[in-house]
Amino acid sequence: MSALLRVQDLRVRFRTMGPLKALATGTKAPFIDAVCGVSFQIRKGETLALVGESGSGKSTIARTIIGLQPALSGSIRFGAQELIGLTATERMPYLRRMAMMFQDPVGSLSPRLTVQSLLAEPFRIHGVSNRDGGAEAERLLRMVGLPADVGRRYPHQLSGGQARRVGVARALALNPELIIADEPTAGLDVSVQGEVLNLLARLQDELGIAILIITHNLNVVRHMADRMAIMYLGRVVETGSTQHIFDYPRHPYTQALLSANPVPDPDAVLNRIEIKGEVPSMLRRPSGCEFHTRCQYAQEICRGVFPEPSASGDDAEHSFKCHFPLKHESGPRWEKSTALTS
Ligand code: SF4
Repeated sequence: MSALLRVQDLRVRFRTMGPLKALATGTKAPFIDAVCGVSFQIRKGETLALVGESGSGKSTIARTIIGLQPALSGSIRFGAQELIGLTATERMPYLRRMAMMFQDPVGSLSPRLTVQSLLAEPFRIHGVSNRDGGAEAERLLRMVGLPADVGRRYPHQLSGGQARRVGVARALALNPELIIADEPTAGLDVSVQGEVLNLLARLQDELGIAILIITHNLNVVRHMADRMAIMYLGRVVETGSTQHIFDYPRHPYTQALLSANPVPDPDAVLNRIEIKGEVPSMLRRPSGCEFHTRCQYAQEICRGVFPEPSASGDDAEHSFKCHFPLKHESGPRWEKSTALTS
């Protein structure tokens, strides 16, 4: 199936100081590269998760896709259309076909508007007729399992779960083909998290929407994503089907992230792997493999040579960047704790 969204070699750069200050302080490179050559694609009806610690560049990618952040280079194709280089006006028809759910469900809703007005906003922004706004709001609220009277409330009168559902209803307003969900369960109780994820999964089944989930929560990934891409310092270090990566992580960073996450098998014995130290600053990127400052398997070559992508062999879509990938000769990692050793 052809890709609905194809991101290729995307680079995003932030200035850290203005040109005059850079001149005055003698700073040669007054910027950070927040996203460095990221590539992935999402097919119709599929869910891809971008996973990583905060500051790994995943939210920047989402903001760049919807045009809130300019790209330095690379390509973002939505269907057959290249989005990089379009003006805001030229981009509008494509943005109408995708919707963003922001991380803070209440903070992202204007406090002065009722839910009904908030649900009418996407129509207004995109110049789409919405003559019977009341009926439309009721329809959208019904789709996300909220009663019609929620339409008369203001954001501060909603619970966290209700606000998130209103966010989903807003995202659905213009029948998008792609929803970008930034930390869709952040700040919610575990039971409400489940409700929101089930809601998204149900709507995806019914409407065939593709979903790009941005999260650091591996339970969300396991529940929702067909495929996942693990990010470190603005690069994808491992990508593939969710099942295959959970079973057979090849990159030590992925292994450490997964080891900190509970697995569904109550009899599983897992070694929790601590990642040493802090994420390095993007202003001072380590040489070679950028994970070498924290990797328990690092060797000399890792400090000097950047690892090229390698395929995992038994899964064509699974690839990783590591000189010394983990081996799983004993089967999936949660069957035996020894499967975690390389
Ligand atoms: Fe660790 Fe080396 Fe692999 Fe980087 S390339 S993840 S430092 S083993």
